Amino acid sequence: MPIKKKTIKSTKKSAAKKPATEKSTDASQNKPAVPKGSLKDVRLVRGMKDILPEDEKYWRHVFRTAEELMRESYFDRLETPVLEYTPIFTRAVGENTDIVEKEMFSFTDRGRDNVSLRPEGTAGVVRAYVEHGMINRPQPVKLWYFGPFFRYDRPQSGRQRQFYQFGSEVIGDGHPVIDAQLISLVGEFFKRLQIPVTIQVNSIGDKESRIAYGKALMDFLKPHKHKIDKEILERYKKTPLQLLDVKDDELQLLLDNAPQIVDYLTPEANQHFVKVLEHLDELDVSYQLNPKIVRGLDYYSHTTFEVMPEGGDKKLNALGGGGRYDKLVELFGGREETGACGFALGVERVIAQLKALDIRMPDRKPPEVFLAQLGDKARQKAIKVLHELRREGFRVAETFSKERLKSQMEIANRLHVTFTLIIGQKEMIDDTILIRDMENGIQEVVDSKKIVNELKKRIAENHGEK
Ligand code: AMP
Repeated sequence: MPIKKKTIKSTKKSAAKKPATEKSTDASQNKPAVPKGSLKDVRLVRGMKDILPEDEKYWRHVFRTAEELMRESYFDRLETPVLEYTPIFTRAVGENTDIVEKEMFSFTDRGRDNVSLRPEGTAGVVRAYVEHGMINRPQPVKLWYFGPFFRYDRPQSGRQRQFYQFGSEVIGDGHPVIDAQLISLVGEFFKRLQIPVTIQVNSIGDKESRIAYGKALMDFLKPHKHKIDKEILERYKKTPLQLLDVKDDELQLLLDNAPQIVDYLTPEANQHFVKVLEHLDELDVSYQLNPKIVRGLDYYSHTTFEVMPEGGDKKLNALGGGGRYDKLVELFGGREETGACGFALGVERVIAQLKALDIRMPDRKPPEVFLAQLGDKARQKAIKVLHELRREGFRVAETFSKERLKSQMEIANRLHVTFTLIIGQKEMIDDTILIRDMENGIQEVVDSKKIVNELKKRIAENHGEK
């Protein structure tokens, strides 16, 4: 094609015009020619991680386990964008929370709108529920998602600035059986992955319960004020419940003897919690009560829970969490008193656990056939054969860019293929294909037109033997 040729020519010309400094290659360090000053940008953003090919089997396994569980439970997938208007999060998560105060990736876009990368999933899902009038669907609406989230936190083990969550939200019903069913699903997810976990459950009740408890908590802390960081006290004076979530060892030690919220629940809130626990027993879900599980976000009410890897007890190690949030739909302009409950699990931490426990991942099946070719004409034919074989449902691999048979056979061996098909010059003339059994090295010439049937027969025979 003439156009192509022209493009190639002009690229060469412009490359030749570049200043000498840009062209030079530092051969001693084997570095590619990159314009000076730009190398420092050719690296990952702090706190972000690449998902490398060797980890793909873990990601696929976790995603598929999640997908299977959600599909068989008749939950529907909803993916919201990673970018939302900032008030979606400030309103839902709360102004006075770590996420909103310190951890959001927020910026003004070119249209002067204030937008943020989503730090969590619930706010976006509720926004979508309201915006798409999902209230008109049969309630509750059962949804799930799997995607990246962003928090500008200090990167450390188990904490990244971009991380993935598998989450679920059931919106449109306040019945306590839903809380229990979601907790049960979380338990089932970990059971299927063979990761032992403890699910810790609590209730933070309704607003009235929280006001009463907040007062009791402050009264308890009053005589100990001198032992508590002033900044912490000032910060949480309006949301004292969240003190239970603050990562400060001394404070937590003090709070071990503090009054517990379950003793301050209103009769309605208490009844909801009791029902959740009864349903958990009926569903045969084991759990632990932990009065400190308050989840640091404003939108929660009633049930809260967290998933801890068994044996580990540090807050940092939580694999996931969730709870009820009955006021959020209304806050976003939806119908009053729309009950809702959900969970979110950290995928990287789940994968770290799979690795730590040395759990075997289902591997991709090796190819049945490898297609090797010698020469341009043979390559053209091999491309056609490849498509034909894939259409017939065979698992086929190749490296058509390689010229030498030896390098192609090396790759075939590495892939543990069962048969290699070789198309060389002689085979081109005869319209045949050489079929090599990789186990015993025996080769046989087969008529090109009969190759599909021959392969089917041999693969069936192989299966029969096994
Ligand atoms: P949260 O709603 O903050 O409790 O998050 C739910 C789960 O997501 C946590 O239990 C973690 O497993 C995971 N998670 C939260 N933040 C991060 C992060 N910065 N890096 C990795 N995983 C995270």
